[in-house]
Amino acid sequence: MKILIDNGHGSDTAGKCAPDKSLREYKWAREIATRIVAQLKANGYDAERIVPEDRDISLGERCRRVNAMCDKLGTQNVILVSIHCNAAGADGKWKTAGGWCAYTSPGQTKADILATSLYNAAEVELAGYIQQFPIHKSLGKYDSKQRPVRTDYSDGDPDYEARFYILVHTQCPAVLTESLFQDNKADVDFLNSEDGKKHLTALHVNGIINYLKAQKP
Ligand SMILES: [Zn+2]
Repeated sequence: MKILIDNGHGSDTAGKCAPDKSLREYKWAREIATRIVAQLKANGYDAERIVPEDRDISLGERCRRVNAMCDKLGTQNVILVSIHCNAAGADGKWKTAGGWCAYTSPGQTKADILATSLYNAAEVELAGYIQQFPIHKSLGKYDSKQRPVRTDYSDGDPDYEARFYILVHTQCPAVLTESLFQDNKADVDFLNSEDGKKHLTALHVNGIINYLKAQKP
C-alpha cells in the first residue's frame, strides 16, 4: 500500500495566507505533509509526498503523478490525502469561520470510509481545540454558526462532497482535508503552535492507519 500525501499550492501561489502573514498555506501544508510522511514511515508504512517542490505544481501534473503510481502498483494499493487550510475570504481580513473538515468526490467510494476514519481521528486529536471552541466563540473569535469539526451528514457520512480537481481526476481513493481556517486568528494561533502541528499531524497519521487496518481482510 502506497500512501500519497499532497500539499496544496506553492510558494508562487498568490494569497492563501493569514491576514498578518504569520501563516502561508503552501508552507504549513508542506511542513505537516513532511511530518505525516515521516510518522507513517516510522510506523512501517510506505508514504511519500507527490509535490516535494516548493513552487506550485499544476493540478493536472499532481493527478498525473498520482495516477502513474496507481498504474504501477494497482489503484487498490494507493490512497491520496491532500493537505490544505481553509479560508472564509480572500480580502486579506480576519474572519469568524473556523473548524476542520474533509472532502471527497460525490458518491460513496472507499474515499468516504477514509474520510470517516479521519473524522474519527479528528474527534480524538482535536479534543483540546474542540474544548476551547465555545470559549473562543463567546469571545467573538468564531461566529455562532461555527463548529470545531465541520460535517455534512446529508449523504449519511460526515465529509463534504465536491468535484475538486484532485478528487475527481485521481483513480485511487482520495480525500482533501481543510485543517482549520488561515484567516481566523484563533485557528492560526493553533495552526502555528507546536501543539497544533502535533495534533493535526497525528489526526492524519492515525486516520490513515486506522483506515488501512480496517481495510485488511
Ligand atoms: Zn488550499
